[in-house]
Amino acid sequence: MTNTPIAAHRLSMRCHHKTGVRPSTWCGAIAPWLRAGSSLFADGWFCAAHHHPSDIESSQARRYRRVRLQLYVDLAGVSLQQADAQTEAVERVRQALEAIGARVSFGLVVSAILQNAPPPAQDVKTPPEGLPR
Ligand SMILES: [Zn+2]
Repeated sequence: MTNTPIAAHRLSMRCHHKTGVRPSTWCGAIAPWLRAGSSLFADGWFCAAHHHPSDIESSQARRYRRVRLQLYVDLAGVSLQQADAQTEAVERVRQALEAIGARVSFGLVVSAILQNAPPPAQDVKTPPEGLPR
């Protein structure tokens, strides 16, 4: 028996393989392969590319750390129409985050009509002194 709370929504496990490539040093792909831990190491989950032959494919519920992020995302709408722009943006962000195993809940979606500032003036290079202009 454990005191670990049961998650309301199942999350996909993500690969624990360390790649050494920044910004993330872990693979992070969806990981159905379990490498059971020991007294020295915690359980680890691995993707098809990084699992070992001794790992077991498992959908058993195991303990994991859920990371919950609160963030703000700004996108240019695909339409000036509020409903079209907001609906498309929500779906696009949902698809992007679900592709990495996230479960997404949207709390607030707002939009406004804006315009970009003009681009910076061209940097006109002046020739060094002594050279014809
Ligand atoms: Zn992996």
